[in-house]
Amino acid sequence: MGGTEQKYVQEAFETNWIAPLGPHVNGFELDLKEYLKEDTEVACLSSGTAALHLALILAGVKSKDEVLCQSFTFSASANPITYQGAKPIFIDSEKDTWNMCPVALEEAILARIAAGKKPKAIIVVHLYGMPAKIDEILKIAKKYSIVLIEDSAEALGSTYKGQKCGTFGDFGILSFNGNKIITTSGGGALVTKNLEIKAKAVFLATQARDNAPHYQHSQIGYNYRMSNVLAGIGIGQMEVLDKHVELRRKNHQFYESFFNDVAGVTVFKEPTRDFFSNHWLSCIIIDSKITGFTSEELRLKLEKDNIESRPLWKPMHLQPVFKDCQYFGGNVAETLFETGLCLPSGSNLTDIDRERISKSIREIL
Ligand SMILES: *Cc1c(COP(=O)(O)O)cnc(C)c1O
Repeated sequence: MGGTEQKYVQEAFETNWIAPLGPHVNGFELDLKEYLKEDTEVACLSSGTAALHLALILAGVKSKDEVLCQSFTFSASANPITYQGAKPIFIDSEKDTWNMCPVALEEAILARIAAGKKPKAIIVVHLYGMPAKIDEILKIAKKYSIVLIEDSAEALGSTYKGQKCGTFGDFGILSFNGNKIITTSGGGALVTKNLEIKAKAVFLATQARDNAPHYQHSQIGYNYRMSNVLAGIGIGQMEVLDKHVELRRKNHQFYESFFNDVAGVTVFKEPTRDFFSNHWLSCIIIDSKITGFTSEELRLKLEKDNIESRPLWKPMHLQPVFKDCQYFGGNVAETLFETGLCLPSGSNLTDIDRERISKSIREIL
C-alpha cells in the first residue's frame, strides 16, 4: 500500500457508499482511462477473470465455439472459455517475449478454418509484464477478422512502442488481485473501445436488469461489478503505480547485473527497445549443462534459506484439466517451464533482502 488508500476507503464509509457502485468506482475508472490513454473506456469489475468472461460474452463466444489461447499463462486466462461452454485451443510461445507465437497462431487459424470451424476469439497474454509481439498478433487477428482479447493482468504499466498494454485488442483485461503490480485486494477491469461496449459490460456485470421500474430481465446477468470500497483502494494505488513499476524494474536490473557474468543463467528481458516491461516478476532460465544445477535445485537451495522462488507457469496444454484440448506449436513453453524460475520480485524488496538472495545464490554457484 502507498499510504493514501485508507483515506479513500474512509471516504466511502463516511459517505455511506458501501455498494458495488459509487463515486470511487467512477473515479477509479477515470484514473485508469487517463493512465491508459488511447481511445478506451474502462469498466471496473470484481476480478480479472470476470473481465475475461465478459470479454468472451461480448465477443459472441457461445457453447461449442473455439477460442485460441496462449498456453504459457496462468489458468485464469483459459478458464472463462469453458464457462461459456466453448473449447480452448492452446498456442505455443515464441522465445523473444515468451508470449503467443504469431506463426503457431496463424497455423492454428488456418487448420481450424480448413476443418470448417473458424475460431471466435484470440486471447493473447503479456506474461510477467512482457509485452507480446502485439503488432504481428493484431495483424493476424485483423486478417482473419477474429476478436482479439488482451490479457494484461500482469502488465499494467508495460508498453509496446510507447502504447500501454491492454489498449491494443478489441478488449483488454486488467487484474488488481493481491499479487499484481497494484491491488484492490481483489478486483479487475475490462478495457473496451467505446462507451457503448462499456455500458453492455456494466449491464451484464450488474445482473442484466432491463430498463423498467420493476425487476425485469431478458438476458442472463452476472454479479461482477467492483465494490466502491475496493475502488477507493484502487484510487490510492494509482498514485503509486509508476513507483511500483520503477521498483519492479529495479529488481530486474539487480538480477541482470548479478547474473551478468554467470554462464548458463539468462535473465528474461525485453528483446528490443520497442518493448517496455513493468517486470512484474523477474525470471531466469537455467542451462543446467553449464551451471551444473537445475532451476529446481536452485529453488530448493533458496527455500532452505527461507527465500521463496517459483517455477514459471505450467503451460495449459500440459494441465490435466485441459488434456483433451488441441495444441499448436512446438516445445517453447514446455522448455521454459522446465528450465525457468521466478525470483523474489516484490515492490517492497529491500537491499537487505537483495543481499540475502545474492548470498544464497552465490553459495550454489
Ligand atoms: C491474475 C491473472 C488473471 C486473473 O485475474 P484475477 O483478478 O485474479 O481474476 C488472469 N490472467 C493472468 C495472466 C493473471 O496473472
